[in-house]
Amino acid sequence: MFEYAPAPESVRPEIKEHYGLFVDGEFVDGEAVFKSVNPATEEVLFTVAEAGAADVAKAVAAARRAQEAVWGPMSGAERGKYLFRIARLLQERSREFAVAESLDNGKPIKETRDFDVPTAAQHFFYHAGWADKLAYAGLGADPRPLGVIGQVIPWNFPILMLAWKIAPALACGNTVVLKPAETTPLTALMFAELCQEADLPPGVVNILPGAGATGAALVDADVDKVAFTGSTAVGRAIAKSIAGSKKKVTLELGGKAANIVFDDAAIDQAVEGIVNGIFFNQGHVCCAGSRLLVQESVADEVLSRLKERVATLRVGDPLDKNTDIGAINSAEQLERITALTETGRGEGADVWQPACDLPENGFWFRPTVFTGVQQSMRIAREEIFGPVLSVLTFRTPDEAIAKANNTPYGLSAGVWTEKGSKILWAAERLRAGVVWANTFNQFDAASPFGGLKESGYGREGGRQGLEAYLDV
Ligand code: NAP
Ligand code: MG
Repeated sequence: MFEYAPAPESVRPEIKEHYGLFVDGEFVDGEAVFKSVNPATEEVLFTVAEAGAADVAKAVAAARRAQEAVWGPMSGAERGKYLFRIARLLQERSREFAVAESLDNGKPIKETRDFDVPTAAQHFFYHAGWADKLAYAGLGADPRPLGVIGQVIPWNFPILMLAWKIAPALACGNTVVLKPAETTPLTALMFAELCQEADLPPGVVNILPGAGATGAALVDADVDKVAFTGSTAVGRAIAKSIAGSKKKVTLELGGKAANIVFDDAAIDQAVEGIVNGIFFNQGHVCCAGSRLLVQESVADEVLSRLKERVATLRVGDPLDKNTDIGAINSAEQLERITALTETGRGEGADVWQPACDLPENGFWFRPTVFTGVQQSMRIAREEIFGPVLSVLTFRTPDEAIAKANNTPYGLSAGVWTEKGSKILWAAERLRAGVVWANTFNQFDAASPFGGLKESGYGREGGRQGLEAYLDV
């Protein structure tokens, strides 16, 4: 491997020592205070107010007033202007947001710079364009907003998940109260400042940092809809708690995607896709290609090239522009990854990790490849949500589909083959919300994303995603 000199990102965003809750256009105190740390160093970055049930009620009331008096009655064209303004501001401040996201989350700067922040801005541009065209979305002549939306998001793509939630909600005339994840509130709070800068009417966007209890209070509050992205366990609890109420719900949950490599695939290209599929964002990706299904006749070749490639991945400082794999988001997540990986060893799978130095402080996990994996093993069934790949083999296409679908999840899948007919054949049979062919982890605001089975329901993005925010 080439030795590169360090290439640290030099811009430092202005991070305040303390952030309040963002309610009705202003930063206010909460019920308690908690800290956010940089997972790459374990240093405290800032402190932040935590929202209690009373704060949630205030924020929802502010969102209700804003929706009824200002945002709902506003023409779509006017709402669109605000969304365009937010999109442009996000683009103008993209470098600052990218560095802040790397600091708070641990993900590499090249990903926040080239993926998270630009894709978040794209979601605002895309939905700004829909705001005055909702009558043409095929959802009725004059589709109405739902009202106030409670939104809860995870830590793996903080600003991007915020954009996926807030952009369509606002475009459709709703107002929002959003709870970012406990470990990654920074870019949501910077986004609140950006809403002030854009002169967004007070109450249209409210941001309530906190932990699970804040999320639960928001789900219980007087909202018209709950939009949740996170684990299947919490999604199930939310669905139960709102059953029988007037509230609508969309759930974007976990996954255990199969990435299928047929014997006629372009091997080098497939290896890049396998690496991107599982090691992008430290594997903290709901649609990660965490189960590699490779046809037996090419398994040895694929695995040897894969290991060669993985050995060149650079693990370390998220702010170094050469870094491929950054820090694990939290001590808790590192523990979960470590424990599940141990079960893989215990159940008899063969483990392989490249030799690489890890920084002394912070939370780190080596890229890991398990071979000799059986369907019954926990590493083949449960979402690890870390840089850990489980490799299984198959002999016939039918067997590949059967194994791919043998999971309670159904979020995504990948197919690698030279034959277009085989792509279509496989896509028809795979039970997954998105199937990528000869690529992986591609996203676009115009393309709906969402799961089948225990990966949840509802779609985000595209024309289909609007339906989740309109009274149709
Ligand atoms: P999580 O524990 O379900 O947390 C998600 C969010 O819900 C966080 O903001 C969390 O707060 C909050 N929360 C926790 N308990 C709650 C409760 N009882 N009521 C309401 N809200 C509650 O998931 P995670 O571990 O942070 O995220 C990883 C999971 O998200 C994985 O399973 C992954 O597959 C899934 N995910 C899915 C998608 C998708 O689009 N399908 C995208 C990204 C991630 P705290 O911050 O305090 O935990
Ligand atoms: Mg943090």
